[in-house]
Order: sequence, then structure tokens, then C-alpha cells
Amino acid sequence: MPIRSKLPHVGTTIFTVMSKLASDCKAINLSQGFPGFDSDPALLDLVNKYMKAGYNQYAPMSGVPLLRERIVEKAKLVYGIELDSESEVTVVSGATEALYAAITAVVNPGDEVILFDPAYDSYAPAVELNGGVPVFVSLSLPGFSVDWERVKAAISDKTQLIIVNTPHNPSGYVWTQEDLNTLAELIQDTGILVVSDEVYEHITFDGRQHLSLLTHPELRERTFVCGSFGKTFHVTGWKIGYCLAPSKLTEEFRKIHQFLTFSSATPLQYALADYLSEPSRYLALPDFYQKKRDLFCEGLKKTPFEFTPAQGSFFQMVSYAHLSDESDYDLSVRLTKEIGVASIPISVFFYDRKDPKILRFCFAKDDSELNVALNRLLKMKL
Ligand code: PMP
Ligand code: GLN
Repeated sequence: MPIRSKLPHVGTTIFTVMSKLASDCKAINLSQGFPGFDSDPALLDLVNKYMKAGYNQYAPMSGVPLLRERIVEKAKLVYGIELDSESEVTVVSGATEALYAAITAVVNPGDEVILFDPAYDSYAPAVELNGGVPVFVSLSLPGFSVDWERVKAAISDKTQLIIVNTPHNPSGYVWTQEDLNTLAELIQDTGILVVSDEVYEHITFDGRQHLSLLTHPELRERTFVCGSFGKTFHVTGWKIGYCLAPSKLTEEFRKIHQFLTFSSATPLQYALADYLSEPSRYLALPDFYQKKRDLFCEGLKKTPFEFTPAQGSFFQMVSYAHLSDESDYDLSVRLTKEIGVASIPISVFFYDRKDPKILRFCFAKDDSELNVALNRLLKMKL
């Protein structure tokens, strides 16, 4: 029976492909972004506690009230903003769901959606499945900052949404106050909405502050912020995230969320609510990951790669453009097979598969594993 694919150009994601290759080759997997270490045993014990105490049936559609309150407290403490836990916070099954539900809530057929290029892989398919038209705005290489003149030129009377990602995957670029102000100025007299993917909100380096779009009064009125406990508490497999948005947007968001998943794992939500009562558990994250970034970058200095230390996220990009013409995909496959270190070729993040000869490594791993990977990289042939 012929099937009319709704995503004819989409294959299996690179994260699945490279993680499988890494596992087949018994390589160190610095490709797909997930921590190589476990979460705090205290958090795992809490899940057990709530499961055993009978918290095993459907959670409320919008999320366990205590968890929503704790998310509000976190936003107040970290960003100095007031949110209403009843009408502005929704707990979902990972940021992937938050992004999909937010995009689906507001994109109608024919609407244009501005995406920064390169972008995380789930945005464009979500736009297309809703009949939207992705309009790509290239980030400025090598820093991956936003060229606001290009954004201005891309805005049309069909623009419905702009999708922002800070700290950025794959580059780690962290938006500045000027970026927020310029975006706000550009869209102030329009009906354009914003989805802001802030899953690496607690992973910024060198004293840089993550600026949530919710901290800007005008952006706050029109933005869905998507977050993920997977990144913050080293539990990417739990798939618990949240969406923060003004009540009118949240109302529409929940209409989609209730038919996508309805609600998310109950004992995990109670455990996270309990665990969040101690802010040091997320406030310690920049230091924790900066040590790993620094260790990894120190080792990279001995390799022929060129790089600038990431500003945020748990990814480090390296360039080999000065050394070889090999495609980034071929090189990352070859390094996985030949020296046992898997990475992500960043061409997969570009809509036209542009290949600036850059690989992305995930440094959310034990130091010993990072050291072995670095030693192996010294042996690579480019
Ligand atoms: N957005 C970005 C930029 C990501 O890197 C990821 C996951 N690595 C997600 C969204 C998805 O988050 P989750 O696992 O909570 O669905
Ligand atoms: N976001 C993760 C990354 O960038 C991957 C998540 C996934 O595999 N879907 O590596």
C-alpha cells in the first residue's frame, strides 16, 4: 500500500544513528547529548519513595501542583520573575513535547516560522507537520551569533513565530541582553510569537548569565519558554520538561498537550518537586560543567582541531576546516570506527546540510572517559 509520507525528507535522527554506531564499535559516545554518569542517588530514592507510596496513577493534566509551584520558585530565584503556577506553567514529557505542543498551538497552514540556521533537529519537522513554512536565517559563523539585519529581512506579514534557542545547540552561543532587546524591538508592533528553547538554562560558563526570554517584559507577553529536567538533573531518559507561557498562550498549549500525552509520569514529578526544594542542586551546575568543559578543552589544545570554548550547553564544537576536505559526516563515522570516539557532524543541523567542517562533542561524561577520548583523539589521522 503506498504511504504518502508527511515528512518525506526526514530519516532517522543523527543522534540515533551515531549512538548505534558508537555502541556497535564500542566507541566512547560523545555524540548524542546525554550525561555519562548517573543522577544524585537522593533523587533516585525519591522516585522509589513516591512509587512505593502509591503515586502511580495519572498526574493532573497541567502537572503536579507542587512541582509547578517549585518551578515558579526557581524562576523567581534565578530570573527574578513572578509566574502563576495555575495558569502559566505546564509540566510535559520532555522539552521535545513542549516544543511540539507550542508550535502546534499557534502555527496554521501557510504561516511562516523563522528558524535560526543551524537549529536543533526537531523544530522544522514540527513546523512542517502543522503546514507552516520554515524560513531559515543563517547565524553568523564562526561565533554563531544572530545577525539581526538578516532577521529583519526575513520577517514578513506571514511571520507567525520565531524559534529561539539559548544556550544554543550545537554551538553553545548564549544570547546577550542586546539580542533580547533587538528581538523585542523587531516584533513589538507585530503579532509575532516566540518559542524559546532554554533546555540548557543552567549550563553557562565564565560567569555568563542565561537570560530567559521571560526576563524581558515585552517578550514575556508573547513567549513560550521550553525547559527540561533531563539536562538539569542528569536524567535525560525521564523525559520531564515544562512550558512557561502567559495564560492565554498556556490555554492553547494545554489544548495540544492534553491530546499528545495528557500528563507525565507521576512519581517522577513528585520526586522532582521534592528535590527542587534545595536550589543548590541546580545552582551548582555551571561550576560542575565548566570543570568538564575546561578539562576537555585543555586536552583538545594538544589536537590539531581549532575551537573556541563553548559559552554554554554541554557541547564543544571543533573545526578541522584548515586540515581536510573530508565531509563532517564521513569524518565522524571514521573517527568512531578507527579511534573509538563518536561525535556529531554539525551539517545535520543546517537545513541545506551545509558542511563548515565542524564536529560537536558532548563533554557531559566522567573525567576518566573524557581523558580516554582525548588520548584517542591524539591518534587520529586527518
Ligand atoms: N532542545 C534542545 C536544544 C536539545 O538539545 C534537546 C535534547 N538534547 C531537546 C530540546 C529535547 O529535550 P528533552 O529530552 O527534554 O525532550
Ligand atoms: N538533544 C540531544 C543532542 O543534541 C539528543 C536528543 C535526542 O537524541 N533526540 O544530542
